[in-house]
Amino acid sequence: MPPAPLPPNETERLAALNALGLLDTPTEEVFDSLVRLASTVLDAPIAAVSLVDKERQWFKSVIGLPEGVRETPRDCSFCSHAILAPHETLSVPDATLDGRFSDNPLVTGDPGVRFYAGVPLVDPEGFALGALCVVDVTPRTPTPRQMAKLRDIATGVSAALRLHRALRDLDNQAHRDPLTGLGNRRGFDRQLAIPAQSTQALLLLDMDSFKVINDTFGHPAGDAALREVAQRLLTAVRESDQAFRLGGDEFALLLPELGDHDGVRAVADRLHAVLGQPFVLDGLVMDLGVSIGAAILPADTADLRTLVPRADAALYRAKRAGRGLTRIAGESGDGSDSDLSTSASASRHSLKTRLKQALVPPGAEPFDLVFQPIVSLSNPGLPTNEALIRWSPELGDSVPPGQFVPMAEHSGLAPHLDRWVLRTACAMATKWSKPWGVSVNISAITLGSVDLASMVHDILDQTGLDAGRLTVELTETALADDPARAGRQAEALRSLGVGIALDDFGAGHSSLVALRNYPFTKLKIDRALISGIDRDPVRCHSVRFAAELGRMLDLTVAAEGVERPEELRVLRECGVGECQGYLLARPVAHAAIDGAVEDAVRLALIERPADMQARRANPAPGPADASATTQLSDCEIAPLSLRRAGARDRRRVGRGA
Ligand code: C2E
Ligand code: MG
Ligand code: MG
Repeated sequence: MPPAPLPPNETERLAALNALGLLDTPTEEVFDSLVRLASTVLDAPIAAVSLVDKERQWFKSVIGLPEGVRETPRDCSFCSHAILAPHETLSVPDATLDGRFSDNPLVTGDPGVRFYAGVPLVDPEGFALGALCVVDVTPRTPTPRQMAKLRDIATGVSAALRLHRALRDLDNQAHRDPLTGLGNRRGFDRQLAIPAQSTQALLLLDMDSFKVINDTFGHPAGDAALREVAQRLLTAVRESDQAFRLGGDEFALLLPELGDHDGVRAVADRLHAVLGQPFVLDGLVMDLGVSIGAAILPADTADLRTLVPRADAALYRAKRAGRGLTRIAGESGDGSDSDLSTSASASRHSLKTRLKQALVPPGAEPFDLVFQPIVSLSNPGLPTNEALIRWSPELGDSVPPGQFVPMAEHSGLAPHLDRWVLRTACAMATKWSKPWGVSVNISAITLGSVDLASMVHDILDQTGLDAGRLTVELTETALADDPARAGRQAEALRSLGVGIALDDFGAGHSSLVALRNYPFTKLKIDRALISGIDRDPVRCHSVRFAAELGRMLDLTVAAEGVERPEELRVLRECGVGECQGYLLARPVAHAAIDGAVEDAVRLALIERPADMQARRANPAPGPADASATTQLSDCEIAPLSLRRAGARDRRRVGRGA
């Protein structure tokens, strides 16, 4: 049996398949439901989404094969024939009569294939990555109508593949520092959340004289120096080590399988050596130098997050002791990790201490909340205002939440912070002139460490806010650590009548699974997917798909970070229901909320001239969301809408409890 010839550009096709990042991932309901649908429509016992890899065909989803079978060798794969003509459907009415397949072991042996039909799955670059296929063990000729339906379902599978790819690209972008190409703080936090498989060391690095470079040579030279630092770091560590730029001139290295002080000191010495070499900028020679704080994971824990405060404290001691030094947490003669409070400067350490003083009862620091409206694009209704925390530890000196919220998370303070925000936001909302909704961000750490539903219940009780007005915003990291616990918490919140939004969708490791498995009421698409949507077809397609999914799953879909009218126009066309962003209203103080909501509603509902013309031409107008066109066929929608009933049921149970 000759194997199928290789398609032209096979190397590029395989590269595109690998870039998709789908091989060897778990099954997903979106693909499973489309495969079930294909099997039903063609009345075939076997159906699969097959990706044709170098040596194998691998099934993202398959039914009708023995449990656990996820691949076959490529040599005997029918789909490797199907991908040779990316725009045609391969139909084999009886494999025993077809010279290409008659002696194929899948035909002569198990499962005894006789009938095969496969539609290639083509990516936006035109590469056929695999096929949606159906198989039967009796010969037959499907009707043209059945084949047309199979092609429709394959369009749905291709769309799901494209969304997966878009989310993966955005995920990579979101976790990378564009200046140096290293991981960024988000990437670092994500890595820390993964339980360690071996001993690990964390090194935190702070350049000693970086400010001088920026002040003397300007920011372009500073950027060049940071790029050079990143390059040198990579030369001093192993390939399995991971380097991150946490911000400014702060870097971090995670070193697996390094568990002793001597090993860590050897790496640190190498780093001092490479970073101690002069930097040549604009023809001038500069010495930089670096201070290093390190910590080693104790033998009895796999939680990398415990390393951060210890390495941080060691770095603080290294800085205080002079320049170009290393301190390792727990090393004899280095002082304790707990001498943070001696710092009077506005360093990170003193900030952390002040944060603690502020949050641990009876905290008295000047936190404040601002509110940003999230408004409907189709009706004036009752908008929701998202509470965003602000902190000014010194008069006139505010610290952005992107800096101190992670600090609170690393120091075990997140539940204190979230409790303060919840209580304050709910209390403020009861004083608003209209019963608008209020949305509160809750950290993943809080969801994982306290009984959030009880906390919310008590606060609603104390403040008298109607539960239906509150939405809790969670990101997907909140679901990662202990999905079962997160699910119970989410169900308990829903049974109070509180809404739950999935925040930052598309910015991190978003998956469609979360949408299905948790009782979300709202999906908030991150600014990373929204920004420039009018100029980027991939973003546009992803948002359209997210809006479509939202409709099927009975979720409100909101876009975050809308800054330009062109973006608003495209979002409207994509069928997004709600918008939030500087274009409509910036976050404002509690006292200014009336004006902000009024402005945002007015701007969101402004009728554009093009709309008016369209309305005149078409006397049966629908709401903005409903008029959005969609590229998805009925076939794509059908399998997903099967679960809508489940989602509604779950919510009904919640409301009734
Ligand atoms: P988030 O929950 O996704 O909040 C939206 C962020 O985007 C806010 O930043 C908001 O000011 C900003 N934003 C809104 N519209 C636009 C826009 O059109 N353009 C741009 N460039 N940005 C826009 P903020 O207030 O700095 O908060 C950042 C993040 O910090 C929040 O992201 C949230 O993850 C966290 N955070 C803020 N407040 C709290 C809080 O009270 N508790 C917790 N746990 N986290 C909070
Ligand atoms: Mg939010
Ligand atoms: Mg967000």
